Amino acid sequence: MHLLVITDLEGVCGVDSFSQTRTGREQRKGPAMDQLAREVNACIEGIHSAKPKATVDVWDGHGSGGLRESDVGDARYLEGGRPYFEMDGYDAMLFVGQHAMAGSPHAPLCHTYSSLSIDYYKLNGTFVGEFACRALLAGLQGVPTIFLSGDDKATLEARQFVPEIETAVTKRGTGRESADHRDREEVCAAIRDGVAVAIERLDEIPPYSGLEPPYTLEVRYYEPYNVSKIDRIAGWIRKYLPIAGDLVPVSKGVTRIDARTIRITADDLLDTDSGLYHRL
Ligand SMILES: [Zn+2]
Repeated sequence: MHLLVITDLEGVCGVDSFSQTRTGREQRKGPAMDQLAREVNACIEGIHSAKPKATVDVWDGHGSGGLRESDVGDARYLEGGRPYFEMDGYDAMLFVGQHAMAGSPHAPLCHTYSSLSIDYYKLNGTFVGEFACRALLAGLQGVPTIFLSGDDKATLEARQFVPEIETAVTKRGTGRESADHRDREEVCAAIRDGVAVAIERLDEIPPYSGLEPPYTLEVRYYEPYNVSKIDRIAGWIRKYLPIAGDLVPVSKGVTRIDARTIRITADDLLDTDSGLYHRL
């Protein structure tokens, strides 16, 4: 059995301020990273308690880095890339430390990809965050997402898309930067137990494929600047089209809706030539 664990920093226990996750200086992020390491290792232990011979890959999904390779126990640490686009050989995907999508009420540190620039993502008319996008990409490749740990709003969001998923709650969100936290040891135990149940129930949890092709992603930014930047890049690409064919995919299928909104269409989410590929 081969499993992929996707990690993030904002959903772990004890973290409820962007000052604990955003800074590039590790001494500020240190305590959050220590807790993510505990929760990731609890997940790996849960997997091995159910399937001792399982192979586990762990990917750090936090943009500025949230997980130290040296902290990861009995698993392979994946450096960079976006492994959820290449799920060949994996039996299931799991999330640890996940937060809710941008705009979720009382959801601590909620955001969608960039906490600084993105107001929302809407895929085929449905608001989506990192969970739904990645679960869908894995699902389209036939791989189920069987577990998520994070704040209570993130676990609710996961169950909206995958009702059968196993979850473990790390804290109860009371605002965008406030939460009531569970006991750390209790959280690790809940993750260990929840993951073991998820592995046992793997066959009962279907791959998520609830949003069907063709795809339209609407991206709304906080500031107009982001769209004009995209326009500038698109203009530059058009200008150099004959000699820079490999740059075309960045803007393929992208339409400007207004100063803060773009819409991107694609027939296949896994098509690496589509403009959508670059935003998931
Ligand atoms: Zn994230």
